[in-house]
Amino acid sequence: MAMTRREFLMRTGAAGGYSAAFLMMQSMGLMPITASASSVVNAAPGSGKGLRVVILGAGIAGLVSAYELGKLGYECTILEARERPGGRNWTARNGTKIVLNGFDTQTCTFDEGNYQNLGPGRIPSIHGTMLHYCRELGIEMEVEVNTTRSSYLQDDKVNGGKPSMMPADTFLNCSLNASHRARSTKL
Ligand SMILES: Cc1cc2nc3c(=O)[nH]c(=O)nc-3n(C[C@H](O)[C@H](O)[C@H](O)COP(=O)(O)OP(=O)(O)OC[C@H]3O[C@@H](n4cnc5c(N)ncnc54)[C@H](O)[C@@H]3O)c2cc1C
Repeated sequence: MAMTRREFLMRTGAAGGYSAAFLMMQSMGLMPITASASSVVNAAPGSGKGLRVVILGAGIAGLVSAYELGKLGYECTILEARERPGGRNWTARNGTKIVLNGFDTQTCTFDEGNYQNLGPGRIPSIHGTMLHYCRELGIEMEVEVNTTRSSYLQDDKVNGGKPSMMPADTFLNCSLNASHRARSTKL
């Protein structure tokens, strides 16, 4: 079922009160968020001109460092031990190979467009710095779907007390796109 932004905020307020509605509005960009780490870089524009920096590791910390230093004019080189950037941030898509020492190598066979975040997948509203970068870099927010084939609901009064798997769209009471559906039902 589609839901308007207004209805969503009203339901958030009804369930979690003023604080929940306030935080939700902040994370949706409807209210200002106070200081984020990205706003306290205290250096004059161009102060890095002509200076070179080597950064170890292309996780989020290394990437943010290079991004901010680059804005100041530093010439950054990131050295990454793995064959991909992102560090613990890693999204599996069709064809991604997952190598675990001592186990078989798995190759992801998702339909095109579907994915799973194997590392972090949640940006809570208090992560002001990350939300700042998402806005600055135009990264679209998505609903976090935290249900999988392994997630069951159990209530003594429902379904004779037997655990049951809830379809994610029923659970969330909202429409999901193909990617959400895949994450919630196929994994
Ligand atoms: C399963 C999982 C779920 C998570 N869920 C969430 C979440 O929902 N929300 C959230 O906010 N956080 C979550 N986290 C935490 C989040 O992933 C980490 O806090 C964050 O990614 C750490 O970033 P980093 O750049 O500090 O380190 P890393 O991501 O570990 O990056 C370090 C990089 O440095 C490289 N490296 C290390 N040593 C060297 C070297 N000597 N030379 C060259 N390269 C080197 C590594 O290969 C790696 O790429 C989760 C973490 C995991 C594992």
